[in-house]
Amino acid sequence: MTQDKTKIALVTGASRGLGKNTALALAKKGVDVIVTYHSSEAEAKSVVSAIEEIGRKAAALQLDTGNTKIFDGFVAQVKQLLQEKWQTEQFDFLVNNAGIGLHKPFAETTESDFDRLMNIHLKGVFFLTQKLLPSIKDGGRIVNISSGLARFAIPDSSAYAVMKGGVEVLTRYLAKELGERQIAVNTIAPGAIETDFSGGAVRDNQKMNDFVASQTALGRAGVPDDIGGAIASLLSEDNRWVNAQRIEVSGGMFL
Ligand code: NAP
Repeated sequence: MTQDKTKIALVTGASRGLGKNTALALAKKGVDVIVTYHSSEAEAKSVVSAIEEIGRKAAALQLDTGNTKIFDGFVAQVKQLLQEKWQTEQFDFLVNNAGIGLHKPFAETTESDFDRLMNIHLKGVFFLTQKLLPSIKDGGRIVNISSGLARFAIPDSSAYAVMKGGVEVLTRYLAKELGERQIAVNTIAPGAIETDFSGGAVRDNQKMNDFVASQTALGRAGVPDDIGGAIASLLSEDNRWVNAQRIEVSGGMFL
């Protein structure tokens, strides 16, 4: 049997970027991790190896968070994995992180752009969390990843930001309804971070990077290491009484 003290996290979209960084930060804090990937299987496997090198258990599962039809099958895979690898039926922490960007003016955003973002960022988060609920321990935690863009407005992000706004409202409702199971639910809202996100725009476009730095109190764009540790520390015992909050991790953008 898994010892009571060993926590298990499931982080969606952990093959790259912020999800990968979160998975590694959790492992460094002694948490075992199930990482999910969409298309980057090799990257996900190397995240699993890196977690194992830290001394924690890990496994990778394929998941498209934009396709609710496959969620029952995914949940069955999670259950089987928990049984085989951890001899347990439930995990402790769910981090809803997977996502894509879209930079398009409101006037040019198509219905299919909107649907794609909605399926991945809002409908997917809603129903994946619902279907995983029986597999989350009482006393567990959920972190939903939003964005600074749900608070401030930068042109060309309306559809994306609307979904993140929805996720922030969902966080509060989940916190209310899951309180009876002692499950705390919070939002982490990163600022602009240097990852592959949106074609690597914040990392690779110097003009964009300089603009972000100029609008950030701490004077630079964010890097993945600014986020993973924040999520891992939110999931630590020290932060167990933090519930239903939106915590922006942006170095102080657009104050
Ligand atoms: P990233 O480097 O592009 O990584 C995205 C991750 O999500 C990858 O692991 C990818 O998996 C996965 N993914 C993409 N589409 C998916 C789908 N349909 N189903 C399942 N997984 C999918 O992006 P990131 O910067 O780490 O972003 C992570 C989260 O932070 C997103 O929710 C994003 O909205 C949010 N965020 C990012 C920033 C930023 O500036 N970077 C700022 C605020 C919020 P594969 O590689 O396997 O396909």
